[in-house]
Amino acid sequence: MPTEKLYWPEPFATSFEATARPGELAGQRSIVLDRTMFYPESGGQLADTGTLVIAGRTLGVKDVQVDDAGEIHHLVEGPVEPFDPTPASGTIDSARRRDHMAQHTAQHALSRALVDVARAETVSARLGATSCTIDVEGALDDRDVARAEDLVNAVVTDDVAVRQLFPTAEELARMPLRRAPKVDRDVRVIEIEGFDLSPCGGTHCTRTGQIGVVRVVDLERYKGGWRVTFHAGRRALDDARRKQAVLAELARELTCGLLDVGQAVGKLRRELKARQDALSVTRGELVELVAARTLADNPPDPSGTTRIVLVRPDADVGMLRTLAGRLAARPDVVAFCASPDERDSAELLIVVQRGSSATFDCGAWLKATAGAHGGRGGGRPERAEGRLAASVPLASRMHS
Ligand SMILES: [Zn+2]
Repeated sequence: MPTEKLYWPEPFATSFEATARPGELAGQRSIVLDRTMFYPESGGQLADTGTLVIAGRTLGVKDVQVDDAGEIHHLVEGPVEPFDPTPASGTIDSARRRDHMAQHTAQHALSRALVDVARAETVSARLGATSCTIDVEGALDDRDVARAEDLVNAVVTDDVAVRQLFPTAEELARMPLRRAPKVDRDVRVIEIEGFDLSPCGGTHCTRTGQIGVVRVVDLERYKGGWRVTFHAGRRALDDARRKQAVLAELARELTCGLLDVGQAVGKLRRELKARQDALSVTRGELVELVAARTLADNPPDPSGTTRIVLVRPDADVGMLRTLAGRLAARPDVVAFCASPDERDSAELLIVVQRGSSATFDCGAWLKATAGAHGGRGGGRPERAEGRLAASVPLASRMHS
């Protein structure tokens, strides 16, 4: 027999009396009551938690589920031994319930507002433990969302009644419902007076003022439509506080006002770009000087091939390539330009390049050295690059 739903007529009540008996749900022992205030997880709303007192024993209710027959199963902490039907009293976590009611009623209002401002129909909604989402089909942009948010908050400020209705089939047929019912009889409709009519089995506020402020915090593409993330009431306040704390921290770092953080970051980025540009000019000049000095220090070897090892701790791969290119501009040179990898100090970045008259095979050397000492990389006979273990004895290895 379906469990009597005490949470429908009295969403603000928190304690109740009932008769308990043991039940079973998907192989798990549960407690079934003839009537309950515990809302079972369904319709995108999370279950209530709380406590049941049965025969002097207090049991923590950690989850509540409803089966196909409409029986509500209370899943409790600890084992459930068989017992005869017995009087029980229950208390739900009222803060958790109030939060769920606020999020759920806000979801109805926001779904309606998205239809009104952008004809964006709700496909599904999820009321999570930390954030709530509405997935809609149709086009939606930031301006639509801001207008929908304004509309919902105006309905909150108007503090209109939220009622549960149990219409007859004829009454139901005449109702301008936002969406079709999922059950075909005993349909329960939630009315936000003068604003929205929607079939639903969840728990809701009794006036819109109880919702508190509603804030949309994210709009993202989702499955060909859009996902709107929102917070209502206490969650909106907590979210605003967390974000303000982050902003305040940034403002302190940047020694500016909270609302000037964006401008201050823009200024920093422009300064950084200017310095990077200046640095890149200086590095270009440095490369020319280093290459010229290195070539002067390494006159052409009588053998016809001059091997030059150049390790520059400050060089990135771009600088190594330029250096190797400058050195190998002299026909007799085989240039080995290396630098410790910034991300992995156990490795060397290396670029090997030969001049036009040298016959050394850069690609084969790098491959063989990586194979023998650890690393990876390769290339053509004329030029190769990769990474080698920092322990590779670069100079002696080359001369062996
Ligand atoms: Zn609802």
